[in-house]
Amino acid sequence: MHFSDLGIAPTILRALETAGYTSPTGVQAEAIPAAIAGRDLLVSAQTGSGKTAAFLLPALTKLSERSTGKGQGPRVLVLCPTRELAQQVEKNALEYGKDLRWLKTACLVGGASFGFQTRALSRPIDLIVATPGRLMDHMRSGRIDFSRLEMLVLDEADRMLDMGFIEDIETIVKATPAERQTVLFSATLDGTVGRMAEKMTREPLRIEIARSETSGGTIEEHLLYADDLNHKHRLLDHILKESGFDQCVIFSATKSYSEELADKLSDQGYSAACLHGDMPQSWRNRTLNDLRRGRIKILVATDVAARGIDVPTITHVVNFDLPKQAEDYVHRIGRTGRAGRDGTAITLAESKESHKVRRIEQYLKRSITEGVIEGMEPTRRPSKGGPRRGGNGKPGGYGNQRRPGSGGGNSRGGYQGNRGPRSNERSAPRSTSSQ
Ligand code: AMP
Repeated sequence: MHFSDLGIAPTILRALETAGYTSPTGVQAEAIPAAIAGRDLLVSAQTGSGKTAAFLLPALTKLSERSTGKGQGPRVLVLCPTRELAQQVEKNALEYGKDLRWLKTACLVGGASFGFQTRALSRPIDLIVATPGRLMDHMRSGRIDFSRLEMLVLDEADRMLDMGFIEDIETIVKATPAERQTVLFSATLDGTVGRMAEKMTREPLRIEIARSETSGGTIEEHLLYADDLNHKHRLLDHILKESGFDQCVIFSATKSYSEELADKLSDQGYSAACLHGDMPQSWRNRTLNDLRRGRIKILVATDVAARGIDVPTITHVVNFDLPKQAEDYVHRIGRTGRAGRDGTAITLAESKESHKVRRIEQYLKRSITEGVIEGMEPTRRPSKGGPRRGGNGKPGGYGNQRRPGSGGGNSRGGYQGNRGPRSNERSAPRSTSSQ
């Protein structure tokens, strides 16, 4: 199957070649022709499946032809749960639409200047990517004209509902023309998301993409049990010294701990920074740019800030704290193994948290291989039910297993390669709430 079989405008096909995409992913092969034909879509697909291009390529194909509608408002609106994801989507739109010279886009997210966004809205605009809160602010001031809107995309709809955006989404949907095309992407189409999706679509085509069908390479997953926080820190030290990572994202449960951990790692000589939802947007953007350029080697992030991080050189993800919601596990580990490369995801859990691990495994419908690092085994057994074990009933030896990336130059001894200047990001505003 080739992209040219899917009905995508030739000007966009050229940009895909430049991006190095050779063939469509599963979700792209199914969603693109149907969306170009004008169908409403309900798609369950995970991050890493190529879902962004699955809605942007039909949207841009639409935009490659002139609008027959009056007015100068957006023809395509993409709603995203977080600022980083919205920015990533706009970046992808500009990449795939680079040969549509007239293409005008705007990214309307909180934390960014109103002036810049208002100026963008005062001119004809083709595509808006927005988080619901900031879009509502602009709508309340009467700055958005949806009269010529052709396509509405809800990206990571389940996440937007989790974040409490349901009323905003309903208001936004009501403000758009009833004859619009609606395309909804979500990790799950059950429950509240499914009911909301039914209300806002007409005879939608349902597409379900299995979790394993991602456009990325293989992600090797490990689970390490620890007795307590101290033990987790010792495991983390070992992983960072021995894994030979190029860039690593470490997930923490709270904003304050993400700062503390980034500080600690900076003190140890790593080029580390934190990323969470309370940091000023300009700061978040700068941190992400530094990560993309390789100036930051370790990013300590909360879940909300982690969405939209698409940096192919991230070789390792460490879940220092378990995610609160099982599906976040998938999003977190999807930060590695991007663009066809392999990656490693290591999850640390305290022995008393084995029930949380089991919840994640139930969601995944598979187990995560438990390992141990020699000499750093947990002394307490995980609570009732215990962890899943390998076929011989014993936990696998993480320390003895082959690890992608461990062949790299820094795999043993003092970690030299990632020593770098201390990051200024360390003194981000303090906060104790999560994300
Ligand atoms: P997404 O699921 O949209 O977050 O995309 C995951 C990653 O796959 C991103 O790095 C994309 O640039 C990349 N990608 C998307 N479609 C393709 C494709 N057809 N071939 C190769 N890489 C792709």
